[in-house]
Amino acid sequence: MSNLFEIKNLNMHYPVTDGLMGNIKGYVYALNNVNLDIKENEILGLVGESGSGKSTLGNCILKLITPTSGEVLFKGENILNKKKNELKEFRKNAQMIFQNPYMSLNPRMKIYDILKEPLIVNIIIDKKEINHKIKEIINLTGIREEDLNRYPHEFSGGQRQRIAIARAIITHPIFIVADEPVSALDVSIQAQIINLMLELKQHLNLTMLFISHDLSVIKYISDTIAVMYLGEIVEIAEKDELFNNHKHPYTEALLNAVPVISEDKKSKKIILKGDIPSPQNPPQGCKFHTRCPYVMEKCKTQAPEFFEISQNHRVRCFLCENHNIY
Ligand code: SF4
Repeated sequence: MSNLFEIKNLNMHYPVTDGLMGNIKGYVYALNNVNLDIKENEILGLVGESGSGKSTLGNCILKLITPTSGEVLFKGENILNKKKNELKEFRKNAQMIFQNPYMSLNPRMKIYDILKEPLIVNIIIDKKEINHKIKEIINLTGIREEDLNRYPHEFSGGQRQRIAIARAIITHPIFIVADEPVSALDVSIQAQIINLMLELKQHLNLTMLFISHDLSVIKYISDTIAVMYLGEIVEIAEKDELFNNHKHPYTEALLNAVPVISEDKKSKKIILKGDIPSPQNPPQGCKFHTRCPYVMEKCKTQAPEFFEISQNHRVRCFLCENHNIY
């Protein structure tokens, strides 16, 4: 599979001003030197605690915000260099599904108009064609024809997320960023929405960046998983490799946080203590060293680079230096 996206040395540092004079007194280091490839037709799961930079990365990839530095290559072209009028084709091809279906749909618009809007933006103005596309998309997403005349507040959370998904795919994009698309929904509804997204991925040959803090959701939907901590990717591997042969202590801690029923009370587990440090004042050296049970002296002053465990498995931890598997 070839790469649809290549993200190179991406940084997003938000200036913090003093409020009175507007002088910059520091930065929030939301993304630090992120390098990531997204292969055509794969679902890349991005997991990490709140504040790890997952949503910022999703927004930068779609150029909804402009990063401080770095490159985002889409089919080999850097979209960060493109002007607004040159991004039209990219916007049609790359869409976003937001976390909260209560906030992401305009409450004053009927569902028909919500679905029509992206088509009009993409200069489809023939009414017959619009109606044909809306009919096609509501059939795919399980929305009833009579619902087109209703308003968002008349629907449940799961139904609203179906509408949000329908709006995202109506222009037949090839890439979707799904930012915590099920975390605002009841557990019973989450499975329906995830299965819908898997069906759409097959049917429309979609590539997806699926952002979640929930490893069980990520495990179910992803082909490859990237783990983020404080603005950095710390481990990336294919799903089975990550679950069966993870190497980074933070990945281990996240996996340990997933509740399982087990009688094995003797097994040692890393349990994360405290909160993720502030991205405004990140620790020196390895950013995880303040919470890592395996911390060594050099972790406090030196930042580890990526070490290759196998062809598609990379880990940012000194324990994996020279494939030093702990
Ligand atoms: Fe822990 Fe050191 Fe590895 Fe960082 S580099 S995760 S502090 S062992």
